[in-house]
Amino acid sequence: MDYVSTRNRERKVSAAYAIANGIAPDGGLYCPTSFPALTEADWKTLAESDYKGRSALILGKFLTDFSAEELADFAAKAYDDEKFGGADTAPVVKLSEGKNLLELWHGPTCAFKDMALQMLPHLLTASLRKTGETRTACILVATSGDTGKAALDGFHDVPGTKIMVYYPVDGVSPMQKLQMATQEGANVEVIDAQSAVKRIFTDDETRAQLDKDGMMLSSANSINWGRLAPQIAYYVSAYCDMVKAGTIRQGDRINVCVPTGNFGNILAAYIAKQMGLPVNKFICASNRNNVLTDFFKKDGEYNRNRDFYTTTSPSMDILISSNLERLLFFASDFDDRMVAELMAKLNGEGSYKVASDVFAKIAADFDAGCCDDEHAAETIHRLWTEEKYLCDTHTAVAVRVYEDYRARTGDETPTVIASTASPFKFCRAVIEALGGTLEKDDVTQLEVLSGLRGVPAPETLAASAGKTSRFDRVVDKADILSTVALLKDL
Ligand SMILES: *Cc1c(COP(=O)(O)O)cnc(C)c1O
Repeated sequence: MDYVSTRNRERKVSAAYAIANGIAPDGGLYCPTSFPALTEADWKTLAESDYKGRSALILGKFLTDFSAEELADFAAKAYDDEKFGGADTAPVVKLSEGKNLLELWHGPTCAFKDMALQMLPHLLTASLRKTGETRTACILVATSGDTGKAALDGFHDVPGTKIMVYYPVDGVSPMQKLQMATQEGANVEVIDAQSAVKRIFTDDETRAQLDKDGMMLSSANSINWGRLAPQIAYYVSAYCDMVKAGTIRQGDRINVCVPTGNFGNILAAYIAKQMGLPVNKFICASNRNNVLTDFFKKDGEYNRNRDFYTTTSPSMDILISSNLERLLFFASDFDDRMVAELMAKLNGEGSYKVASDVFAKIAADFDAGCCDDEHAAETIHRLWTEEKYLCDTHTAVAVRVYEDYRARTGDETPTVIASTASPFKFCRAVIEALGGTLEKDDVTQLEVLSGLRGVPAPETLAASAGKTSRFDRVVDKADILSTVALLKDL
């Protein structure tokens, strides 16, 4: 299968090339040029497989330059039972009134990013080999959320790679900061920096120096196809599990509701639909940073010129949802010129408007809504008291937006709601939502939440709390380029 840039579909590359390079030279995102269909035989195999088998089958449809044996081996390693705390890698928990929570946080860092970032190192190192790349791949990750720890965990001590994570001093939760600061591995570095990492990617001198030292830059953010492709499988897997549980029958339609930031997770569900997953509506849930809600409600007008808010769901605090670019490409039947024009407008003026025929196609598939911190907290409290289900702040946003959607439209289609983080990753906000009292001087608050509700904290989070920090470097924005020199000594 060929891949092309969303901004230029003339130049075709392989999946391995797309994964090794992350982003296209024209600034566009690599996409497949068609969608492989799931056959009846595939569905039968999927139904009978465990998560590892399902993942390998779906990846095999897109990564045609990888062998079935390779992908089965990668899936077995990435979704190892021990790492995911049991055989149920991505379980579906059925609650009342159409809510089916797809728990994507049973991996080693307790966030849904693990689903992709445990797989990406395998895909990336194989891609480097397949494309004849001999330099060391330096993964630079800029994050305000869960990507940092999940990427560190996935890449630590992976041969042929080095990884450096940048995050804003005050823009991550205490638990997130602790998880990253205590990361083990000889090839890792964590820097408490203000954004500006993009400057490194675009600085020719820096790239030339790295090349001289036998290194190249790569990305673990969701612009990389190797990060997105592994996410398609869990929507198909959830469907198979719901058929098995008798919630739906094979062929029935479902809705999919996703707490959205960069638009990667919900786009993976959209791609699953193009392969044949029967989806009625995608419900795009945002917090107070509701640029996407406005996009869907205002007929395809995207405008990032607005205030930015810090919320209790920080992984969704985003003004530019990069993967929306891929949706525009798909919905316009791969119109690269249109996408390039819209993205130039976004870069220049900070806004664009999609042509009405393209937007009509998007509107047929998508609904959207947003929810502020107060309503998210109320939802956490209510889910606990009414259904004995404890969810985190991001998941709460999605549950609330789904409930509003159902009340507004009367649509009672069974709905998969992506549950994207363990409640223990966002203890403070969850404890406050439940009406509990925070323990002074307790960075993690793990025991408070655990005691409050009699649910044990995940072992990996408790383990971070007991470790000593290895990283405490703070760098000023102006000195960001100097940090690249650190890569040499890793
Ligand atoms: C990253 C993240 C999201 C947003 O996912 P996107 O793919 O960026 O839309 C939502 N919730 C949590 C907990 C996350 O870590």
